[in-house]
Amino acid sequence: MPVVMKFGGTSVADAAAFENVARIVANERDAAPVVVVSAMSGVTDSLLAATNIAALENVFDRHRAVARELLDASKADHFIDRLREAADKIATLLQSPAQKPAEHKSLQDAVVSFGETLSSTLLAEVLNQKGIKARQVDARRCIITDEEFTSATPLMPETFAQSQSELIPVLKSGVVPVLGGFIGSTKRGVTTTLGRGGSDYTAALIGAALGVSEIQIWTDVTGVLTADPRIVPSAQTVERLSYGEAAELAYFGAKVLHPKTIQPAIENSIPVRICNSRAPHELGTLVGPETETSPRTVKAIAHKTGVTTVQITSARMLGAYGFLRALFEVFERHRTVVDVVTTSEVSVSLSLDDASALPAIVAELEQLGTVRVEKGRAIICVVGEGLRGTPGIAARVFSTISDINVTLISQGASSINFTFAIEEERVKEAVIRLHEEFFATKRHITNKSNQ
Ligand code: ADP
Ligand code: ASP
Ligand code: MG
Repeated sequence: MPVVMKFGGTSVADAAAFENVARIVANERDAAPVVVVSAMSGVTDSLLAATNIAALENVFDRHRAVARELLDASKADHFIDRLREAADKIATLLQSPAQKPAEHKSLQDAVVSFGETLSSTLLAEVLNQKGIKARQVDARRCIITDEEFTSATPLMPETFAQSQSELIPVLKSGVVPVLGGFIGSTKRGVTTTLGRGGSDYTAALIGAALGVSEIQIWTDVTGVLTADPRIVPSAQTVERLSYGEAAELAYFGAKVLHPKTIQPAIENSIPVRICNSRAPHELGTLVGPETETSPRTVKAIAHKTGVTTVQITSARMLGAYGFLRALFEVFERHRTVVDVVTTSEVSVSLSLDDASALPAIVAELEQLGTVRVEKGRAIICVVGEGLRGTPGIAARVFSTISDINVTLISQGASSINFTFAIEEERVKEAVIRLHEEFFATKRHITNKSNQ
């Protein structure tokens, strides 16, 4: 059974990082790896921001530098020719006349796909150069999606069939397939993308299609940590997570995993391992079906900012059927995803990540009741299988941040998360304090044993 190894942007940031990836792949050579790679770090952002080709000089320079440093002169020249062709195509796309919004998104996907196409082409060449037989496979021939440009949904039967027919022959010939993450195409062959951070999802889709023994996500931290390390530098690696825990953490802001990654893994019972490409021998996090409970009950704290909450109050809700359907149909019509929902007798509160359609949504909701919108909110999610049936977690959360106003309190249906909204400005402070409350004990023990 093969394994999927996905390398994020920072794992292919420069020549040294590419070399490091080659070393990691070489170590797994016997496991028949399929490699999925993101664009070089920062490249997706540059492609999205570019309005003319001159703005992408640095992007092309960075690819060229890796090729020159790691490939034989003739191979490097060949890659640089491909780079020039890519630049010409991007320039043409950027010059296309102003488009309707739907076409604009399709154009954007076409431009941004070059990040992954180039990194995968380059990585395949680097692997060959290091003696690992590898071949770039165009991910757009494997991941077949609907036409929701910039956040397309894969069509599973087509994606599975295509991935198998594209990749199995390569594997059988003893060659490592290297695919760009994040990108796909419609049935008609038009380029799409799976949404920001979507390379993890590509890895899971390919893993499910091939029935791999493990999906490895190689990134710049040692696994899933007890909190976002940018806010809590002392956050520690969580050694094991259940699928449910990992899905909740990813959904509520732990950027280390794209939220959709876990579903294909669950459906096919494939373990997901999150490892650090800068410290490949550290164990990282293993995500699997086990529902091991942590002695401290809470496994990790996730958070996300930029959330909008909406409250709809209406006496018409009382004893009426069809009200909630009418309410959620408004969001459906405007293709807006609702995250957390709480209800009382006469009101419904919910949270949204994407508030772009909000003015139109509010206008329709006002037909149903009084609407209150609060922007600049954040969601915090405390996760652990052990939360189920453990009394007192809510009390500990509330007493730790008793001076912060908490709304939209919800305990997920699976009872492994405890989620609530607060104002965005206070989220860092709240996460630091909650981390201290739930994880300080271990640190004290560690400190003692270090003395
Ligand atoms: P990649 O480019 O490899 O996909 P990402 O930047 O998408 O990497 O994800 C890794 C980053 O996720 C880490 O560098 C870290 O800053 C951030 N992160 C946020 N929350 C967590 C968490 N709970 N555990 C680990 N990393 C987290
Ligand atoms: N390169 C894409 C992004 O930056 C996909 C990914 O990195 O997962 O969003
Ligand atoms: Mg990522």
